Amino acid sequence: MKLRCIEVYYVKMPLRYPWRTAYGEDADIHSVLVKLVTEDAYGWGETTPLQAPCYSPEWAGGVYSLIKDFLAPQVIGQEIDNVESLLQLLSCFKGNPFAKAGIELAFWVLQAKQQSQPLHRSLGGTTKAIAVGADFGVQDSLQILIDKVQYAINEGYSRIKLKFRYGWDINMLKAIRDVFPDYPFHIDCNAAFTLKQTDLFQKVDRFDLAMIEQPLHYSDLREHAFLQKSISTPICLDESITSPKVMADAIQLESCRYVNIKTGRVGGLYNAIQIHDMCHNAGISCWVGGMLESAVGNGISIELATLPNFTYPADIFPSQVHYIHDLGYPEITTTAPGKIAVSSVPGIPYEPSTILLSQYTLHHTIIKK
Ligand SMILES: [Mg+2]
Repeated sequence: MKLRCIEVYYVKMPLRYPWRTAYGEDADIHSVLVKLVTEDAYGWGETTPLQAPCYSPEWAGGVYSLIKDFLAPQVIGQEIDNVESLLQLLSCFKGNPFAKAGIELAFWVLQAKQQSQPLHRSLGGTTKAIAVGADFGVQDSLQILIDKVQYAINEGYSRIKLKFRYGWDINMLKAIRDVFPDYPFHIDCNAAFTLKQTDLFQKVDRFDLAMIEQPLHYSDLREHAFLQKSISTPICLDESITSPKVMADAIQLESCRYVNIKTGRVGGLYNAIQIHDMCHNAGISCWVGGMLESAVGNGISIELATLPNFTYPADIFPSQVHYIHDLGYPEITTTAPGKIAVSSVPGIPYEPSTILLSQYTLHHTIIKK
């Protein structure tokens, strides 16, 4: 297929509540949407590195500029038959997985629409619905957290992830376990600690958590392997896994027992599938993570989560959890407790709402051939 036009949107999506983690606080989610257009079809992708380079070295402004100035000009007007050809064209640019994912994800959606099949079939997935969990950032008080956890359990979510940082650590876990002694929880540290806190993680062992997500430096593998040998709770890597090559090193070093795969952080669906398959062969379980994308980005992640080694419920949420008005339409909803249905239409069922896209867009560019 030949790409005739590429549109890039930088959007700021207001959250219902600020999102607080170990690296900071976001009141809005800054995201980049890409629309690829051919002679007779189009596809939307979304990549969400957040406003500042605090989760990873990339940020929304940089991703927008990189797509506009380098990636889109590299692929516009080119005859591109498959995703491998697309990635080959982009391979002269080093790193920047979130930026590359913006184009790559839109390409997969476009291709699935042209093949008249739901995206998960293009990826090799077969299930009709995926399991999703609930996820709570740092709250104003422990009681607020306990109330929210109770609500999520009542709603039927099968596991809950809790953000974990200094001052919201062992005290928080103790309060949670006192009320919910048997429910599956895990914590996400967002790379906030070092090996000097090994004793802290040894204390975490007694809370019987499903896993500890990214306790150490955002690009580390070696120290995570060391920490894993010092504790019994499984370590899950998130920030550290940015490509299949890094995943191969993590497997060799035995850095983790779980991997959180995010479409943007690994550079798109092709790499996500590679990492999923490598983990499967190594006996490492995976789950699909998210960056609070709109329904467009989450709709793509839902399709990815249909692959067989995604055995732990995904961080994909109904729209109303984080957004009063989701930029994507229709809204994402659960079809059964803790379950979200996969696409039954060509590509994915979600696209940006025209009205909200014009309200939320800060920058927009069109590249044509
Ligand atoms: Mg994480």
